[in-house]
Amino acid sequence: MRIAITIAAALCIGTVPVLRADDSVAPQVAAATADYTTDGRIQLGEIMGRFDALSTEHGWISETIYGYPDTQGIAIKSWRTPHRGEALWILSGIHGEEPAGPNAIATNLASLTQLADAGVPIVVIPLANPNAYRHNWRYPNTAERDWKKGGGYSVGDAEHLLPDLDAGDQPRAAKAPGPETAALTQYVLHLAEQYPPRLVLDLHEDELSKEGGYIYSQGRQADDNPAGAEIIRLLQATGIPLRQSGKTRFGETIVQGVISRDDQGGPIRDGSIDELLAATAVFVDGRKVRGPSAHTVIVVETPAFEGSKFDLRVAAQGAVVQHVGDLWHSIDGK
Ligand SMILES: [Zn+2]
Repeated sequence: MRIAITIAAALCIGTVPVLRADDSVAPQVAAATADYTTDGRIQLGEIMGRFDALSTEHGWISETIYGYPDTQGIAIKSWRTPHRGEALWILSGIHGEEPAGPNAIATNLASLTQLADAGVPIVVIPLANPNAYRHNWRYPNTAERDWKKGGGYSVGDAEHLLPDLDAGDQPRAAKAPGPETAALTQYVLHLAEQYPPRLVLDLHEDELSKEGGYIYSQGRQADDNPAGAEIIRLLQATGIPLRQSGKTRFGETIVQGVISRDDQGGPIRDGSIDELLAATAVFVDGRKVRGPSAHTVIVVETPAFEGSKFDLRVAAQGAVVQHVGDLWHSIDGK
């Protein structure tokens, strides 16, 4: 219900042309546009077609979370298993200049369907920012990477649903910064009721990293999380450089590749969709209610080498996707 209202209320945004919503992703239409593919990424129409095999060949449920008004074939979509319950969630493509995660998911769908066939409920939102992906932008509404200059906003910004950082008795922000952000965060909250997140993987890249990657660990077992430790082992085995210690450029301490605290030593509260999935309390229609309370939320941040070494980046993210079963069982029953 909440989803239908959000999509119906979707308006055009910023500098993006006025577009038309369409439930179906039509590869031939997207192929006609000058999509960015020079780094080796799978073109938008093709990658959406690959994800769609989850529904057409495996019986998963596909939904359009947000369709860009007046542009055929550009939509934020989800795929989920028909069976519900405590679930594995996989998010990727929040930032359009970080294509390795979506490409790794598209080339390793069998790892997801095998785990689903074993009975594990799964929700996948593999390309959360398709409009930025096809342009190699970071944000959905502008080519400018610096949000302070260009007014860019994240599709995963959840501050309007999260408690403020002081008393926690009101939302951290008055409203969502953009229509796809409103649609995506509302959708996630809604679906988390039917598919409570046990393990969330959000696959990012760090475009600016020169020293190596790292992961963020949030949830009820942020410190010493076995899934986080396994992901570090998997990434290391691919040869992608990781940071074992020191601090991020945001001042957070890295411990053996893992960041589980903010720069003050407290829980990570970055206002993202990852914090939303880990949150024990959220605001819905002005009321504070129980949040999705995920046991484990891991954000993978591998180096993007300024857009080069695409195959290595996809292999690193792919190693995580290939082992979702092991990761799931590493926190099983806790
Ligand atoms: Zn990112």
